[in-house]
Amino acid sequence: MEQRKKSWAEPFKIKMVELIHMTTREEREAALKEAGYNTFLLKSKDVYIDLLTDSGTSAMSDRQWAGMMMGDEAYAGSENFYHLEAAVQNYYGYKYLVPTHQGRAAEHMISQLWIKKGDVIPGNMYFTTTRLHQELAGGTFIDVIIDEAHDPDDLHPFKGNIDLNKLQAVIDKYGADKIAYVALATAVNMAGGQPVSMQNLKDLREMTNKYGIKIVHDMTRVAENAYFIKKREEGYADKSIVDIVREICSYTDAATMSAKKDALVNIGGFLALNDWDTFERARNMVVVYEGLHTYGGLAGRDMEAIAIGITESVEENHIRARVEQVAYLGNKLVELGVPVVKPIGGHGVFLDAKKILPHLTQDQFPAQSLAAALYLDSGVRSMERGVVSAGRNKEGKNNYPKLELVRLTIPRRVYTQAHMDVVAESVLEVYENREKITGLKMVYEPEYLRFFQARFEVL
Ligand SMILES: *Cc1c(COP(=O)(O)O)cnc(C)c1O
Repeated sequence: MEQRKKSWAEPFKIKMVELIHMTTREEREAALKEAGYNTFLLKSKDVYIDLLTDSGTSAMSDRQWAGMMMGDEAYAGSENFYHLEAAVQNYYGYKYLVPTHQGRAAEHMISQLWIKKGDVIPGNMYFTTTRLHQELAGGTFIDVIIDEAHDPDDLHPFKGNIDLNKLQAVIDKYGADKIAYVALATAVNMAGGQPVSMQNLKDLREMTNKYGIKIVHDMTRVAENAYFIKKREEGYADKSIVDIVREICSYTDAATMSAKKDALVNIGGFLALNDWDTFERARNMVVVYEGLHTYGGLAGRDMEAIAIGITESVEENHIRARVEQVAYLGNKLVELGVPVVKPIGGHGVFLDAKKILPHLTQDQFPAQSLAAALYLDSGVRSMERGVVSAGRNKEGKNNYPKLELVRLTIPRRVYTQAHMDVVAESVLEVYENREKITGLKMVYEPEYLRFFQARFEVL
């Protein structure tokens, strides 16, 4: 309806506010040092504008909060479970639902259920927790995303696409029976929130059907992907986000979801399945790791908030304002001449640390250093998505990803355009003083997902 108008003002008004803390440079210096130059180890009270992640940081609506009051906290058969099940069936089209406390619990289950030791899992770029669960199940992830995804300047409209030639080569090399499934993410996080096209999905489905290979959909940001399809892909301009989301899901066999993203809640996730046998096994497995199959580690009220959040996540005005706010910040940085991943993705703006800090080698952690410098400048918290996040390979060597990025992730419905302006100013300030950034050395490295807890010192 409002689509004819160019501006995308937030489709909500503010009913309650949370005051934020402003710090001095001295306070930030102390806080950063104490946090080992890792933004994950900062205390929230020391952060001004928090763009660490869009995970669980969204603002819930009054309808969601009202739903929380309708929590049915029965141990078994909570009414809210059936609401969530209906939302998953209606909006995503998957038949069976196993709720979990977060997305990674769903990843754990599908990895254990569908991966045999020695299997390979081709996918459109790794995600940290997803790949780790694949490896813990005895599998090996193989990246089959299109080459354009690894080039921050390439303007391909669907940089999340799977390269079907690469996938064919994996099938030819290992044989279809060694492929546990294709791990397909929509709005590919590690590529910069880049979408997959519907055509690519159709082609992928056709090819995998030929070999009897299943597709597991990481649907964490499927609504954002749907928005890009509507905007960029021929034949979809007049389709609703609801229909596009359903069509995307229809080409896949199972899905893992972190409801902390698209679905506008602070905690929750699920595994969705179409296959009864796998559902039965997952439903049994969830009892061991999460809780009974009608709550899976969530309170009844949490499931209600997710059910309502799903319906809000696919509203046209919501998703438009969400993605366009990210684009607003991204385009502003482009105009200021700051190197960022292009096109601007769905959930954040990704600074190209390799290009911003060419005087640092990847072993000096350019993205980690840049994130630290940004915090120091203004209290804006961002996240490293480079060599620290990429971790080590099975031989214990550092993985060196082509993309060395700092992610400015925008929480949904939380910050205003004025906040985005302040962020852009601070990024520019850091960019203009970039040659003063000297790099870091890692002084503590945990075994798993090191980016969360690693500590650094200034070189
Ligand atoms: C956040 C995320 C996950 C993991 O979900 P959690 O709820 O954090 O466990 C998986 N895949 C993608 C793409 C994500 O962004």
